[in-house]
Amino acid sequence: MARNVYMEELNESTYFPDEYAGIADNFFQAYRIESWTVCPGEKMRIKKNGRVLVCRFCGKTSEEVKFGYAHVLSELLGNRYLVSDFECDSCNKLFGGNEDQLSKFLGMARTVLFAKGKEKVPTFKSDGIRMETSVDNHGDSWLHISRDSASGNISYDLVTGSVKVTGIKQSYVPQAVYKALVKMALSCVSDQVVQDYRLGLDYIRGVGYEEAGGVFARTVIRYTFPPAFRYERPTVYIFKKRDPDALLFNRVFLLFALNYIYILPIPFDLEDMKHGGGSLELVPPPPIFTNKYHFPTSAILREIMDLSSLEIVKNDVDAIYISGRPGEKPFGFVYDNGTSGVSDRVFDVNDIERISIKRVLL
Ligand SMILES: [Zn+2]
Repeated sequence: MARNVYMEELNESTYFPDEYAGIADNFFQAYRIESWTVCPGEKMRIKKNGRVLVCRFCGKTSEEVKFGYAHVLSELLGNRYLVSDFECDSCNKLFGGNEDQLSKFLGMARTVLFAKGKEKVPTFKSDGIRMETSVDNHGDSWLHISRDSASGNISYDLVTGSVKVTGIKQSYVPQAVYKALVKMALSCVSDQVVQDYRLGLDYIRGVGYEEAGGVFARTVIRYTFPPAFRYERPTVYIFKKRDPDALLFNRVFLLFALNYIYILPIPFDLEDMKHGGGSLELVPPPPIFTNKYHFPTSAILREIMDLSSLEIVKNDVDAIYISGRPGEKPFGFVYDNGTSGVSDRVFDVNDIERISIKRVLL
């Protein structure tokens, strides 16, 4: 657990793993926190008081279009209560299409992480595999993975002792997923800052600029943590570069949700456009935590994702690993569904019909 001298403006409880000290120095030297948003734990009270509302995305007012309370961050990511009064119903509906793509892109993650959407934890279904959750009489949560037939969805590695469960995500369009992330970024900046992103607002509404958007969408960084860790309340940090002349993207959006951190430059920034966009760099931040985690740093995965494609991605494989002890079989005994007793059969991964795992938070 470490901090550095450049983090003075960040909440004192924030830190990064020691191993990321070099990355953290580079990032916090280059960027200063501009604003942050934490999803509240209870309903927000926004008073409309007869004000005329203006949609920050399309510019229409409550005299022209209807306004409800729109979610600032997607409910898919566990945001229940963070809402705004600056998104009109038609923009909200429009953005719902991109959120649907985000949902497909997230695949089994929300089920595995017990992340409730509007109502309950979603069931993940894919060819031959089904994942769903339940709560038992003691209040413990369980993840159930069942397999229809002896398909290859469950495999086992004796060396690492881990069981791998695979499934196929529903088809999605990467750049629509990217737009869903950008929409969240543009919802979290202030009324004043959003003025620097006129093109970005048009872009996420599908007015155009998809080619330029694709250039930005090529650089999305994602940290993934083991599924036993989850950010309970989605949180957003927006960083701004310290040196206006540095050849870096002006603002960087960090989204902490589920067991991920998504990191992207906020696209179409007026300052960035002056530099021509393409020549700018993104200095990656370290993974930032505000509460303790109990997994080795080696379990943190960092990827650079390219979400620029406008083509539908089909048959994207998703997987979870259930870790066991190296060299040991994952299950102590074999339960026979036929006799409802313990069988003396030798464990064979191909016999598995169902795996039930109790949720333990790390
Ligand atoms: Zn609107």
